[in-house]
Amino acid sequence: MGTNRNKLLVISMDALGAPDVSFFKELPGFKRFLETASYCFNVSSVYPSITYPAHTSIITGCYPKKHGIVNNLRRQFGTPSPDWFWQRMFIKTTTLYDEALNAGMSVASFLWPVTGKSRITWNMPEIFANRPWSNQILTSLNNGTVTFQALMQKNFGHIRQGRSQPALDNFVMECLKWTLEKKQPDVALVHLTDVDSQRHLHGTRSQEARDAIVRHDARLRSIFETLERAGLYHNTNIIVLGDHYQKDTVKAVHVNYWFAQKGWITMRGNAIHQWQAYCQNCDGSAYVYIRKGCGHIKDEVRELLDALAADGDSGIEQVIGGKDAAAMGADPHCSFMLEARDGYYFQDSVNGPERSVAFSEGLPEAEKKPDPSSIPMHATHGYFPGKPGYQTVFMASGPDICENVEIPSMCLVDEGPTMARLLGLTLPEADGRVLTSIIKPQE
Ligand SMILES: [Zn+2]
Repeated sequence: MGTNRNKLLVISMDALGAPDVSFFKELPGFKRFLETASYCFNVSSVYPSITYPAHTSIITGCYPKKHGIVNNLRRQFGTPSPDWFWQRMFIKTTTLYDEALNAGMSVASFLWPVTGKSRITWNMPEIFANRPWSNQILTSLNNGTVTFQALMQKNFGHIRQGRSQPALDNFVMECLKWTLEKKQPDVALVHLTDVDSQRHLHGTRSQEARDAIVRHDARLRSIFETLERAGLYHNTNIIVLGDHYQKDTVKAVHVNYWFAQKGWITMRGNAIHQWQAYCQNCDGSAYVYIRKGCGHIKDEVRELLDALAADGDSGIEQVIGGKDAAAMGADPHCSFMLEARDGYYFQDSVNGPERSVAFSEGLPEAEKKPDPSSIPMHATHGYFPGKPGYQTVFMASGPDICENVEIPSMCLVDEGPTMARLLGLTLPEADGRVLTSIIKPQE
């Protein structure tokens, strides 16, 4: 294991965006990092701009259409608690970590999306226990490196409080720092969600979101200290990136309510019995799928969607045809894609705004609760990546990276190929380009 090459550490700060730059660049950790870093403060996410597609685009260099992670959730319509795209097997292309492992490098990963049951050397995947009968710790253990996770749980498990922040990121940070020091992986990936969580709960410009950025700054400084103590700071290329920004929201759009009115979705109690057309949310955008064999309703579905979009109060800004959605990198299997107006986001609920009870049919009475996604969010993501003020950031500093080069604009898909180049590897299927202007020429 190992190479003579410099190491790579990728720190993903979920929902950190270009509008945050003026604030974080004055904080001590970010300030120190930016003294030498090359950077882009105008990074476009992918469409839909949500966490799992975005992180998979970062790590593969491909748009969702090609890598296959087209949403956070899989297409399990009507299932009480659908699965997320948790496992590596759902990614249809190679990844940065697979190429690194193939080259004999060691890889550590902490809550990086879609890494479940991957070959990663030390892996703590992001998986939630989403069935009433499944236990969080066992679910995570089964999908990652068992002995490593058991050790992390034993050492640092007391810090964690389920999925609540900032305890989750604090737990992840202790695991990361321990691993950097004790295992010295060639490649380390970490996904921190404190800022994303605070924005969903309190809004993009909330004090809580700012406090989370200040906590990220302290986390960054503690990573630098750990690398210095381990004698690794001088030979580690460090990348700090975001996956999307967020937009403030006040209202949810329930397209499936209209589909049910038309008879395209039928219910049995609170559960979906049958569907011909279904709207699956990606928060700020949504996919509309028409079931195989139901192509005859497509024109009528389009008519309804166009009528809704023409009504300013419906919350639908634009109806995008399936081919155009695919050309934008989204799921080629959708019939339509919907973009939300400012202040709106989509939900899957069939019952409309009045009765947003989850598909909890069949669960004991005590377990029946509102769909978590139907709890009003103060901000969210998923919108068209080109929307103004919605871009994210990319910053890189280290022995192989030029100092203070500004990249005017780029896309998430450029990050994988660039990180691969830093490791002396390539991602042959990548849609993105290597950011050669920030990489020092090799002797
Ligand atoms: Zn995210």
